[in-house]
Amino acid sequence: MTGSGETERMRLAAPIVGDAEIEAITRVMKSGNMAQGPETAGFETEFATWCGAPHAVAVSSGTTALHTALLAHGIGPGDSVLTTPFTFIATANAILMAGARPLFADINPADFNLDPAKAEQAIEPDTKAIIAVHLYGQAADLGALRSLASDRGLILIEDACQSHGARFEGDMVGLTGTACYSFYPTKNMTTGEGGIMTTDDEEADARARMIRSHGSRIRYHHEILGYNYRMTDLAAAIGRVQLTRVDEFNDRRRRNAERLTEALKGIPGLETPRELAGRRHVYHQYAVRIKPDFPLDRETFQKELAANGIDSDIHYPVTVTRQPLYDGMGVWPELPEAQTAAAEVLSLPVQPGLTVDDMDRLAESIRRIIS
Ligand SMILES: *Cc1c(COP(=O)(O)O)cnc(C)c1O
Repeated sequence: MTGSGETERMRLAAPIVGDAEIEAITRVMKSGNMAQGPETAGFETEFATWCGAPHAVAVSSGTTALHTALLAHGIGPGDSVLTTPFTFIATANAILMAGARPLFADINPADFNLDPAKAEQAIEPDTKAIIAVHLYGQAADLGALRSLASDRGLILIEDACQSHGARFEGDMVGLTGTACYSFYPTKNMTTGEGGIMTTDDEEADARARMIRSHGSRIRYHHEILGYNYRMTDLAAAIGRVQLTRVDEFNDRRRRNAERLTEALKGIPGLETPRELAGRRHVYHQYAVRIKPDFPLDRETFQKELAANGIDSDIHYPVTVTRQPLYDGMGVWPELPEAQTAAAEVLSLPVQPGLTVDDMDRLAESIRRIIS
């Protein structure tokens, strides 16, 4: 990128793992206990402490955390669950997995998250829960969504799979209620594959522990239908190390994002992401909008970036309601803000392995590409 021919590709995501993670998995391998055990229990306690939630139940992925959370709150056939159409498919699929009916409301274009006023209009008589996604690392409007949920007697589940450490009015997301996190390698912290459900509801905690392990509390006694959604101790051991580093990773993401926003100022048709008042954005993705007055179309721009050694991606090019899986299920509302976002967004690299100098080089490359 610098012309020296020696600069590495600027990758969108690159998990940072070091000797401490390697030592941790070696410790587990030598212990002879690789499935769910003491490391998982330790990780749960440490994660709950870190995010301020009373309980944490580690599971095999963010998807299984969402499925577990819905089941733990008793949601199933005959219920509908409202969510955003502008998210990774797992959010909505968890509703289908629970046997419930998904409903969608449009997003607020300022934060790409569920618009509370539109969510209110989309509630139906059988609606039991809302899944709010904190997309790209910025919290949804939790104030309004929490009031809406409590006014209408709904359960609010936060999909925090992209927002470990994000804050709303000073509080960590998921501080109250139930939240789900993913530890996939592209996320703000990783366990390889893995997820966790946090909750302040003792009963939901107890049910989730059963659901992740074939509905049993006592070995070989099965009270309800459950699954094998357990986290391995290998994954948990990695997670315990990553948890000590995630704050620093997020600080670096924020520092890179701030620098990139500064360096991209004044480019026509390129709208940089905004951190809304009272929120702490952890930049799982740094998603710009490519507006019609940008000199190139999004596809050409992406190709030019790639030719300059810069990875980019679209999160997400197709809204949930326009996915083939959902297309045949019903007549969905138009959701124009979500459709516009899907047509305009482009994620640029700000991951913690990159430096502020990389951000300057990235901005210079963009200016060169469009000149
Ligand atoms: C990654 C992600 C998930 C699913 O997590 P997995 O660990 O990949 O199953 C769910 N929702 C959102 C918003 C995500 O980004």
